[in-house]
Amino acid sequence: MANLEVTEAVPDVVGRAARTIATSVVISRRESFNAAHELRNPDLSEAENRRLYGKCANLHGHNYVLEVEVEGPIDPRTGYVFDLKRLSDVISRRIIEDVDHRNLNTDVPWLDGLIPTAENLALVFMERLRTELPEGLLRRVRVWETDKNWAEVREGA
Ligand SMILES: [Zn+2]
Repeated sequence: MANLEVTEAVPDVVGRAARTIATSVVISRRESFNAAHELRNPDLSEAENRRLYGKCANLHGHNYVLEVEVEGPIDPRTGYVFDLKRLSDVISRRIIEDVDHRNLNTDVPWLDGLIPTAENLALVFMERLRTELPEGLLRRVRVWETDKNWAEVREGA
């Protein structure tokens, strides 16, 4: 009797776990770009900018890495939450093509008026992706400025 009960319980637990996992899965795409920037606030004096940003007030470049996470249920027809090739295409069209090998202070109209810190880049990248993806899918955008520094924007945070 005890054995029978255990045997019967196992499929229930497995079935429940599978359904729980299937309700929401996170997937991620990573892209990279090279760009130049200088950190300075035009409303402040040169001395104040130097004090705030140090060497970063000089024009310099980074090998940026952009990570984009989306989350949703698995489409039973494809087995995908979202086609990562399609996500890559959206990231390229909305962001990479405009910023790669550019000066972020002067060359990108949709960054006009922003100090191009990793924080501000993550925020604007999130906005540019949100409008191109199915509602509720985008979860997180992280911008790596160096291998030690990143900034992240989370949906709903
Ligand atoms: Zn920098």
